[in-house]
Amino acid sequence: MALWFEESREERAVLGPLREFLKAEVAPGAAERDRTGAFPWDLVRKMAQFGVFGATVPEAYGGAGLPMRLFARMVEEVAYYDGALALTVASHNSLATGHILLAGNEKQKAEFLPKLASGEALGAWGLTEPGAGSDAAALKTRAEAVPGGFLLNGTKQFITQGSVAGVYVIMARTDPAPSPEKRHLGISAFAFFRPEKGLRVGRKEEKLGLNASDTAQLLLEDLFVPEEGLLGERGKGFYDVLRVLDGGRIGIAAMAVGLGRAALDFALRHAKEREAFGRSIAEFQGVSFKLAEMATELEAARLLYLKAAELKDAGRPFALEAAQAKLFASEVAVRACDEAIQILGGYGYVKDYPVERYWRDARLTRIGEGTSEILKVVIARRLLEGV
Ligand SMILES: Cc1cc2nc3c(=O)[nH]c(=O)nc-3n(C[C@H](O)[C@H](O)[C@H](O)COP(=O)(O)OP(=O)(O)OC[C@H]3O[C@@H](n4cnc5c(N)ncnc54)[C@H](O)[C@@H]3O)c2cc1C
Repeated sequence: MALWFEESREERAVLGPLREFLKAEVAPGAAERDRTGAFPWDLVRKMAQFGVFGATVPEAYGGAGLPMRLFARMVEEVAYYDGALALTVASHNSLATGHILLAGNEKQKAEFLPKLASGEALGAWGLTEPGAGSDAAALKTRAEAVPGGFLLNGTKQFITQGSVAGVYVIMARTDPAPSPEKRHLGISAFAFFRPEKGLRVGRKEEKLGLNASDTAQLLLEDLFVPEEGLLGERGKGFYDVLRVLDGGRIGIAAMAVGLGRAALDFALRHAKEREAFGRSIAEFQGVSFKLAEMATELEAARLLYLKAAELKDAGRPFALEAAQAKLFASEVAVRACDEAIQILGGYGYVKDYPVERYWRDARLTRIGEGTSEILKVVIARRLLEGV
């Protein structure tokens, strides 16, 4: 019997061909895409055949119907070869698609999910605003009820796939908050296809890393969304937002582990080959201990995200575990990438080698979908609730 943390036959059947594709077609251009920041539409189209864009979407809606655990493993593999593409896959699945899966009615699921699952349309999910990041309930985007629907006005910040998406899920305030303490009430979610008017792409961000992932500001200017676009219960959208983010954190943890593993493997090879003082640098304990710590921490991080994913797959509470997985995985991945740079010395600092890119890419995982500090708030709150 396979151990729970080993790749099952089903997983190998899915991950094997994906890995081959990533090695052959994604890895070779990753450095160049990082340099140009060009959005890799060709790879998105090709990768769709592996089911990555509808991984957890039920087959009835054109998805692969895979468990969260296997989806997270897919994200880890993609990140091993290209962090930017991994963020595209993780955010598309967990955020816009995940929100529609979670809160959509039958009509909305039938309308949006097949296009998202096939990769024909990428999903963008707009919660963050210039004045509301960690404190997302402070969002100012308004959705005013008008005959037949809502008019949305506001600005969304740092939206992944913001300028390339075909489907948008946007959070906006439909109703006043009953009190300052209950600001999370009155927020609703809206799903719609890329509209012809009312949605303008503002600045496209120039980032530290993940350059081939699209990050853009969205300007909503009297954007009309019909009543049917209301996703979930009016005014209660923030509860769904929190659940969507819980799931998203598993994907970001997996992405972090993939990037950390890529840095570890590169550093291992380098440490064996590079000589100093008449021997390979791997023979110096100061170097080999770094490798030992990187490998151990990354393995632990993978087990944490697998645990969170299995709980989600079993329909059990997983918010605490997902937060722990993302907190730990992102911190150890950034550390592993940093140590890989150190092990490569000057070669770690230059762009001829990929480890500086791994570090730049991994750095986002400590920020997106809940900063490390916010995750500690979430974890501590859950722990204290149980006392
Ligand atoms: C590349 C990228 C892609 C993104 N994609 C998306 C997306 O697709 N959709 C979307 O909606 N958003 C997206 N975001 C936004 C992201 O989720 C936010 O940047 C993140 O939540 C932090 O918000 P902020 O940037 O406003 O920082 P702030 O909230 O201003 O935080 C600044 C600092 O204060 C700390 N802090 C804040 N509150 C507390 C507290 N209570 N206790 C302790 N410390 C605190 C934070 O941890 C952080 O260190 C993306 C961001 C980036 C960079």
